[in-house]
Amino acid sequence: MSEKIDIRSLSKESLREFFLEHSQKAFRGNQVYEWLWHKGAHDFESMTNISIETRQFLNDHFVINHIEVDDMQQSSDGTIKNAIKLHDGLIVESVFIPTPTRTTACVSSQVGCSLNCTFCATARLKKMRNLNPDEIYDQVVAIDRQSRVYKGHKLNNIVFMGMGEPLLNYKNVLKSIEMITSDEGLGMSPRRITLSTVGLHKMIMKLADDEVKFNLAVSLHSAIDEVRSKMMPINDKSTLADLLHSLQYWYAKTNKAITFEYVVWKGITLVAYCKKVPSKVNLIEYNAIEEDGFEQADPAAVAYYQRELERNQITVNIRHSRGKDIDAACGQLANKTTA
Ligand code: SF4
Repeated sequence: MSEKIDIRSLSKESLREFFLEHSQKAFRGNQVYEWLWHKGAHDFESMTNISIETRQFLNDHFVINHIEVDDMQQSSDGTIKNAIKLHDGLIVESVFIPTPTRTTACVSSQVGCSLNCTFCATARLKKMRNLNPDEIYDQVVAIDRQSRVYKGHKLNNIVFMGMGEPLLNYKNVLKSIEMITSDEGLGMSPRRITLSTVGLHKMIMKLADDEVKFNLAVSLHSAIDEVRSKMMPINDKSTLADLLHSLQYWYAKTNKAITFEYVVWKGITLVAYCKKVPSKVNLIEYNAIEEDGFEQADPAAVAYYQRELERNQITVNIRHSRGKDIDAACGQLANKTTA
């Protein structure tokens, strides 16, 4: 018996064609597409403006794969870590991060990760597969609901900083963003979306060529190749010089400044690198994971970095991590909820 197709893998045009090929009106495709994305239907029965026969016909050919929030852990600071169960039983995590002024969804793009950054808990999970566009989209929908329930307003921001390297799942991540920003999906502004990458220079240049409208953040963590390669082995293949070249290319094409993410630990120089491309720097409090050998810098070191960056006219934000007590902070996502 052939497996049914996940209907959300079809474009609107393909859906219209499917209906035409089966002697039905093409506009049914538009109606079903609206149910699948904008209205978030998880079954055909709820598509009430579609006839029962057509719903049955859809049921015979397709499935609607969807995620389920399998477990929720709430931090004392209001942060919620969600264990998200995918249709094949695999689990990823996504995080709802509320502050007094806004809410942010941190979403995953892959199950596990192949890049082995030494400070990251996700790296300890083998990469199983890429997430599909609808699986990324559904994480945003789930966290938008949490924003409405817990804060009384819709979700404000999205960061691709959960499990996985988004640029290694390029096509599906961009398709998910297309649906998140489309009026046929969630209608959010791309200015409210930030994709965070370890800095794959060829893919950053592709993003620039594709004229994306969202923001770019780079996990820098060191501006010295030797040190960075030890923390992030990908730096051997995509060096700081390659990265800088791609970021300058990005800026020339998009006119959008880059955000450098930088975990503060001892004695690493940063200013000279960041001055070479329009950027701001988020200094991130390091969150220890077991036995990784890194230590959190003391507050004086953070203050020193801040002073030095500001003295060089680089905007600095200090990011105190949220949800640490439930392992939901940066670099801590490792499916511990279900372990
Ligand atoms: S920091 Fe990001 S890219 Fe590096 S191992 Fe963790 S999830 Fe993968």
